[in-house]
Amino acid sequence: MKEKLMNSHFIDVILPIPLQKAFTYHITEAEAEFLQPGIRVAVPFGKSKIYTALVYKIHKTPPTAYEAKTIHQILDDKPLVTTMQLKHWEWISSYYMCSLGEVMRAAMPNAFIIESETIVSRIEDSIVEDSELKDEEFLIYEALQHQSSLKIQDVVSILDKKRVLPIINSLVEKGVVKLGEEIYQKYTPKLVRYVRLHPNHKSEEKLQELLELLSRAKKQREAVLSLFQMEVVTKKPIKVSELVSQSGASSSVIKALIDKNILEEYHIQTDRISFNGEVEANEKQLNSYQQKALDEIKTAFIDKSVVLLHGVTSSGKTEIYIKLIEEQLQIGKQILYLLPEIALTIQLVSRLQDYFGKKVAVFHSRYSGNERVEAWNNILNNSEKAQIIIGARSALLLPFKDLGLIIVDEEHEQSFKQFDPAPRYHARDAAIVLGNMFRAKILLGTATPSLESYYNASENKYGLVEIKQRYNNVLMPDIELVDLADKYKRKRMKGHFSDKLIEEITEALAEGFQIILFQNRRGFSPVVECTTCGHSPQCPNCDVSLTYHQYRDQLRCHYCGYNSAMFKNCQACGNVTLDTKGFGTEQIEEEVKALFSDSRVARMDLDTTRGKYGFDKLINRFEQREIDILVGTQMLTKGLDFRYVKLVGILNADNLLNFPDFRAHERSYQLMTQVSGRAGRTDLRGKVLIQTYNPNHNILQQVSTNSYAEMYKEQLNDRYNYKYPPIFRLIKITLKHKDYNRVNLAADWYAKSLKQLFKANVLGPEFPPVSRIRNLYNKNILIKIPPGQTLGKTKEAIQKVDNSFNAVKDFRAVRVIINVDNY
Ligand code: ADP
Ligand code: ZN
Repeated sequence: MKEKLMNSHFIDVILPIPLQKAFTYHITEAEAEFLQPGIRVAVPFGKSKIYTALVYKIHKTPPTAYEAKTIHQILDDKPLVTTMQLKHWEWISSYYMCSLGEVMRAAMPNAFIIESETIVSRIEDSIVEDSELKDEEFLIYEALQHQSSLKIQDVVSILDKKRVLPIINSLVEKGVVKLGEEIYQKYTPKLVRYVRLHPNHKSEEKLQELLELLSRAKKQREAVLSLFQMEVVTKKPIKVSELVSQSGASSSVIKALIDKNILEEYHIQTDRISFNGEVEANEKQLNSYQQKALDEIKTAFIDKSVVLLHGVTSSGKTEIYIKLIEEQLQIGKQILYLLPEIALTIQLVSRLQDYFGKKVAVFHSRYSGNERVEAWNNILNNSEKAQIIIGARSALLLPFKDLGLIIVDEEHEQSFKQFDPAPRYHARDAAIVLGNMFRAKILLGTATPSLESYYNASENKYGLVEIKQRYNNVLMPDIELVDLADKYKRKRMKGHFSDKLIEEITEALAEGFQIILFQNRRGFSPVVECTTCGHSPQCPNCDVSLTYHQYRDQLRCHYCGYNSAMFKNCQACGNVTLDTKGFGTEQIEEEVKALFSDSRVARMDLDTTRGKYGFDKLINRFEQREIDILVGTQMLTKGLDFRYVKLVGILNADNLLNFPDFRAHERSYQLMTQVSGRAGRTDLRGKVLIQTYNPNHNILQQVSTNSYAEMYKEQLNDRYNYKYPPIFRLIKITLKHKDYNRVNLAADWYAKSLKQLFKANVLGPEFPPVSRIRNLYNKNILIKIPPGQTLGKTKEAIQKVDNSFNAVKDFRAVRVIINVDNY
């Protein structure tokens, strides 16, 4: 064999693990003729492992460092991953400094990449005829009757052959078995509440009887009549919320009818509603602002691939997206609609489904294996069912055939960035690259653009289109700042509530409106704040607040390592009442309940939405006005559209502004503007109260006067001065090890090598605020890359440092994480 290698054939494959290089296998001539990049093969790896790998390149050059093994077998008859995807993966892997295997793992459903560690188990209630299973499939099926799960290795020994993956694939497809990794995280669908007449009352006659029966209960009778009429007119399922708004009946009336078995409640999963071909035809007419924006977008697209649509909250951006989507559908192109977080945007999904019905495919990374496989195949085959793909960041990695448009909605949201594990990509940026590969257009939409996108627009890299009016000329909310220092001094506070806030809440409740109270509780080590003037100590070298570290009684900067002893009194006003305690949503909820004991209060944060459907239920209850006051964290900010919210209260703006991050001011502006945007979305003007110790803070002034441009100018100036993005680029390197000294030595070595190359643009090493996570010590190094320095060369240099680092025996066990654009 060996001497004939000249004529041999090889493939380089991508393995779903963090290997720096593609691995090479030996294949036969026939296999070489059949295989193409993107086809899966099962391969042996290491002593006894089996992996599903992806053919990357087919060639005739044997590897020099090892003898190529042969593949086990071919798993597909045509590519499952497109050449465009592979090209895009290459970009991700090179830009974000990770392996192709890591990108592969992020992109492909687990069911596609079975490996020897994978656990196969029986699907409990699957019904399958023996005759539907081939002999070998049956053997596995039978084995699973006796034990609940098998490893791939067990399957190998049961069947006494190595080539078992196709058999398992086939069992997965037949719905007989599931793969282990799926067990822990299940997608929780949004359920919408619907009502219908109970079958007992369906006939005309029965209905008459019922109406007579209800002649005494007027409200209930009206609700039943409304429902009946709505059913006749629309011939579609009726949502509880629709019935409430049409009939004017309260939700307690409807509940009473359900309890009496007159109405029947049922739930449908929003992204699973079947549309029976009947798409709602009532397309909305754009108003003149929207039409103008749409025309401008189209003009800008003539010579720009990216356009930033900056439209104030509730300006009707979604309707503009819909027009653009329609045009793409007409020329047969696919559309990708990226959202920051799918669970939070159920309202949007049903809006799009109203227009486009079955053509909309929702892609959740939390879908079960089968559903993800189905979605993948639909998109790959450009099926009718997957013309518009809506998803959070990982939807970007799907096998698109012919993309014409990518919409990145709420482009400023941080959740587009993946932090862990690799690939640490930013979906907006990777979407722009993907769009360009397809020569597709990319629209970034938001009411509060990220500084970098607005910067790109002002540098003329992106087109810029603005809408400054809300739809229907609804007024922007009236934003008022409440001076906490003054209120405390004059004893006008009850707990964390000023008399002004209490007064406005009381009024809104009396008028029957709803209220949102925003309390952000981010951060671990508290920021120090003077209770008299609200001043927080700042780092002299960076544009961030210092963080208090109790165990050393020290103030530290997490960016450059600057530190000083904790002050005895406030540097600004000299007072001795420095406070380090934060307060959270829970405390606010308690206070609200005490202050407004008659109102219905609920809290929305990570703790209350964790359970199954927790988030959806809360949103539902709020939509249906079963809750008067909703207290929550930033979860409240994301694109939710509630009709009856008149008042938004921000309890303390200062802990947003003082968050130790170079983006704290930008983020504060975005967050407060977005929460404010939840108020008064219909004809009446909404009110926003922001409590703060710093009513003169520039950001607060800018929020209350809706001055994005001013905020931008000022922040950009700071970014120049302090060398931060979008002027400088950042790469963060984190070293992790369980031994404190080892991580210190390693980080010093690494930073020293980098400093020889990049001098003062290397900051750290510095322990992050939480320096020990899961028994590992973390230490960070930050590299700032000035505008003139090429990113490619910089990364090459870092890679070299990293290679030498890995060659040091003592450091081999230290994990190094490289995060490009770590913000
Ligand atoms: P944004 O996404 O800019 O915050 P939306 O697209 O959610 O704004 O629009 C705000 C509200 O105005 C929504 O309830 C939407 O249905 C309504 N709306 C927007 N444009 C139109 C239109 N052209 N015709 C009728 N209603 C519209
Ligand atoms: Zn600093």
